[in-house]
Amino acid sequence: MRIEIHPVPPQERKAKPQPSELGFGQHFTDHMFIMDYIHNKGWHKARIVPYQAITLDPAALILHYAQAVFEGLKAYHGEDGQIRLFRPDMNARRLNASAERLCMPTIDPGFFIHAVKALVDLERDWVPRAQGASLYIRPTMIATEPALGVRPALEYLFFIITSPVGAYYKEGFNPVKIMVTDRYVRAVPGGIGYTKAAANYAASLKAAQEAQAQGYSQVLWLDARERRFVEEVGTMNIFFHFKDALVTPALSGSILPGVTRDSVIQLAREWDLEAQERPITIEEVIEGLEEGRLLEVFGTGTAAVISPVGVLHYKERDYTINQGETGPLARRFFEEITGIQYGTRPDTRGWTVTVE
Ligand SMILES: *Cc1c(COP(=O)(O)O)cnc(C)c1O
Repeated sequence: MRIEIHPVPPQERKAKPQPSELGFGQHFTDHMFIMDYIHNKGWHKARIVPYQAITLDPAALILHYAQAVFEGLKAYHGEDGQIRLFRPDMNARRLNASAERLCMPTIDPGFFIHAVKALVDLERDWVPRAQGASLYIRPTMIATEPALGVRPALEYLFFIITSPVGAYYKEGFNPVKIMVTDRYVRAVPGGIGYTKAAANYAASLKAAQEAQAQGYSQVLWLDARERRFVEEVGTMNIFFHFKDALVTPALSGSILPGVTRDSVIQLAREWDLEAQERPITIEEVIEGLEEGRLLEVFGTGTAAVISPVGVLHYKERDYTINQGETGPLARRFFEEITGIQYGTRPDTRGWTVTVE
């Protein structure tokens, strides 16, 4: 499918924000990608148009039964002037896994990457050059058909918007305080936890808000059945560096299969660390901390890459990890992955895709 391009005239383009005012997801670029889907016709009218509001019928199914899935990836401006994407094939496949679970149409992965590249290429002046900054890319699919029956929609919209974002760590690599919640759950076995469905995030807000009111930046989620097995931290996957192994919860169906998670596991194995994907209980974590066998805990995700955990709150107690400091392994993963993303370290695994 050809992508029609309707560029904004140069004199009508927006002013770019200063590097210091980037933040996260607050500024949007001049253009967006969009295409339509109708049952029996498939995806059509792929186009890049000026960034604009979309109109929806108030009966559009997205507004009632939450058929919405999204992705998140970034474009990085290298010191060599190249713009790189990091493993976009994984986002393409995950979008389709999410879409299938919500009875939504899939998108050819090659076309998905082509569309992302076409948009980023047109917006290349928007990819920030400041250290640690990037262009965040948000592909999204929603059900647009106006109908009130509870059933899969017959019409959809897929769009991609982009937003220049600042470095996640403005004052250096800061460990966060996390609260373990045994009151709320994010996802259940047989549910949609493994998808990037918008509804998962609505379900997570309450716990995050309560944790923040108590001075913690995010929650650590436990499994829904027993409230014992660790699942994720906020909207990140989680890793535990014990003296003898690096452990992350196995993908059980209620855990989001992160691109960063997969990259950390692959790197760990290349570095001859014992990387285990298996069930891990909160008791094992607390015991490891009490006995000094658990050296580091960190979250992984596209936004922060690696987010060290300095304090874990569980059952009325705060447990400090690595004296509340960023550990050497978290730092090593952060430097390797960001090095590959910005082109300062060799990409020997074919992880990056250059936008040209
Ligand atoms: C997106 C996301 C992650 C991280 O995935 P990445 O592909 O590494 O960005 C982890 N958990 C949840 C719930 C997420 O939504």
